[in-house]
Amino acid sequence: MADQDNVSNATPKPSRTVGIVMSERIFAGLVVDHKIQGELQSYPANSTPHDADDDDALVELPTDSLVRELCKLIAAVAKGSESTLDAVGLALPGLIRNGVVEEAPNLPQLKGARIQELLTAELVNHNITAPVTVLNDADGVAAGLASRHGKLDHMIRVWTLGTGIGYGRYPFAQGVWEGGHTVVSLDDKERFCGCGGRGHMEGIMGHRAMRLRFLDLEPEEVFAAASTRNGDPRCLEFKHLWHKALAAATATSIHQAGPGKFFLTGFNVRFVDLNLLKDYLHQMVKMSPIQGYSVEIVEDHHTTRVIGAAVTAEQAAGR
Ligand SMILES: [Zn+2]
Repeated sequence: MADQDNVSNATPKPSRTVGIVMSERIFAGLVVDHKIQGELQSYPANSTPHDADDDDALVELPTDSLVRELCKLIAAVAKGSESTLDAVGLALPGLIRNGVVEEAPNLPQLKGARIQELLTAELVNHNITAPVTVLNDADGVAAGLASRHGKLDHMIRVWTLGTGIGYGRYPFAQGVWEGGHTVVSLDDKERFCGCGGRGHMEGIMGHRAMRLRFLDLEPEEVFAAASTRNGDPRCLEFKHLWHKALAAATATSIHQAGPGKFFLTGFNVRFVDLNLLKDYLHQMVKMSPIQGYSVEIVEDHHTTRVIGAAVTAEQAAGR
């Protein structure tokens, strides 16, 4: 094995990239050969991950301030490696094309921002000239999971179950891939999706959408009520609808791109009943050549996202 390595890559230079992810907070890290090196840096610096006040901290920052904060974090983790960086990868929740944020419902100030250009220009002030790649955060999760699970040569897909529903896939492929907006219902009353579209998966499963649907109950109360004996029938019905929506969108992806590995992550995986999900999937996917799929719940950790952003940027820089 050692001999083979020597033949294929004589004294390989370690890849050195910065991964930075933005959702409710920003996390950045230096990634050397697909592993985090040193401490992650975050903005806002001192707070707990699900502090409600933080959820708005980034929403209220204008784009130019946000770009400055991002670059400060990148410079902090890259300190000493500025000239040897191979790439910088930024993952954010939105529809990204060619370095431009075309849509970002949860960070609305970024809509239309030429974020790749802005970051590249500002990073020069920190003596960093490495190429910048901007990607969808769910794609970053998929790349991070592929890297952590040693599957960089496999296709993997991931659903991130949070405020909205993200759909990530690895490896990178051109396209829109807004899988969280897969239509899973033809009911005219299904209109809770953040994008305004009817019948969408996110309109059933997204945290924000669940709050809009149950104005009197928090999502965790809905699932708790559904699980008690003689539980609230409205909550029980919703629990089934929620799992059917996830199964339906997964089944659609299987019918289009084939079977394979699906990961579930995000803070609302706590509501997933895997047996119920698999039961619905079994009812929805009947063609034998495409039944070799699997679903696994994984912990949502920001280090996975940081590694994924870095790996994606490294691969983009090499294209
Ligand atoms: Zn939608």
